[in-house]
Amino acid sequence: MTATTAQPTTAQPATSKRAFKQRVQSWAQKLEVPVVGLAVRPMATKWASCSSNGHLSFSTDLLCLDPALWDYVMVHELLHLSVPNHGKLFKALLRSHLGHGLRRIASNPIPAWNRFRGMVPRP
Ligand SMILES: [Zn+2]
Repeated sequence: MTATTAQPTTAQPATSKRAFKQRVQSWAQKLEVPVVGLAVRPMATKWASCSSNGHLSFSTDLLCLDPALWDYVMVHELLHLSVPNHGKLFKALLRSHLGHGLRRIASNPIPAWNRFRGMVPRP
């Protein structure tokens, strides 16, 4: 098993936080969902969370992971702004936007994989 996707990006955390937020905004435009608030902050037990009024929070731990995983978590949370559960519609939308990315996630085990389990539908 290779763990290359889990190499920490220790350089320039401020730069990667800015890149992360820009990527969230570009996904938000693509998915046509309004983002009212956006924070990247330390989170003890979750990768991300969203509130019904359009505020999104993402864990700073994500900055150390492969951007393919960023996309998964971003699209997941953004879709919750219009679909608040993990039902059939949610999974269908996730697949349609991340089909390729989901395969990459499934074929790239990483130490943090357990924190994604149960959230990622089969590609
Ligand atoms: Zn969710």
